[in-house]
Amino acid sequence: LVSRENHHRRSVVTVRGVPIGGEHMTLIAGPCAVETPEQTLGAALMAKAAGAALLRGGAYKPRTSPYAFQGLGEAGLKILAEVRDETGLPIVTEVVDAGDVELVASYADMLQIGTRNMQNFALLQAAGEAGKPVLLKRGMSATIEEWLMAAEYIAQRGNLDIVLCERGIRTFEKATRNTLDIAAVPVAQKLSHLPVIVDPSHSGGKRDLVLPLSRAAIAAGADGVIVDVHPAPETALCDGPQALVGDDIQELADAVSSMSRLL
Ligand code: PEP
Repeated sequence: LVSRENHHRRSVVTVRGVPIGGEHMTLIAGPCAVETPEQTLGAALMAKAAGAALLRGGAYKPRTSPYAFQGLGEAGLKILAEVRDETGLPIVTEVVDAGDVELVASYADMLQIGTRNMQNFALLQAAGEAGKPVLLKRGMSATIEEWLMAAEYIAQRGNLDIVLCERGIRTFEKATRNTLDIAAVPVAQKLSHLPVIVDPSHSGGKRDLVLPLSRAAIAAGADGVIVDVHPAPETALCDGPQALVGDDIQELADAVSSMSRLL
């Protein structure tokens, strides 16, 4: 269902009127985690001012350590919905448990499945039945074929509104948090008709890598980028070192739009 074989044209996935794929280069930005109404609105206003089309933000955070901030849960979803009302930005947020899909889908415009859950098949199937577009991140140790098979689980439940997201894979390299597999962009686009975006924040793990990795993503033909922004990253409860601040997001948005005009 997600293979390019029977689909000659690449798909465009529309999230509350915002297109991802085709001729469009979509910028998605927002905080890694929803922390407070003020922090989420602050990040959303930064994203919107720079020209982002969608707001990201996690209310359920799948953290490596059980002692780290796990997200606000439904209270975070409510904050996201309020910020959507205030800014007009549709929201994409992660769901980590099949049992929460209905609840998360009642607030979100797009469901995110994170790297750690890419092969959580019950979650993929539930997301496929939720009636909302799905952003499917690549598992950090998954091959491209396994990633596309995960997308197939969603599609098999009747939902072809899937956007693939390359977010870096595990390698021996320690200088970055994960190694951005830039070749995955053209390879996935060749094998599948689904749009492919890149997350330079979670792959690089460092603020100063976000712009160069975004440029690489666009040059490789990505349909968009999804980045973390935070109004005060030094206080962030999750992934502060990779969050863009102040003028960074504007610089990134300008680079995205000028490069995509050239391609
Ligand atoms: C995220 O985008 O908030 C996230 C946790 O990403 P990943 O699943 O790629 O680590």
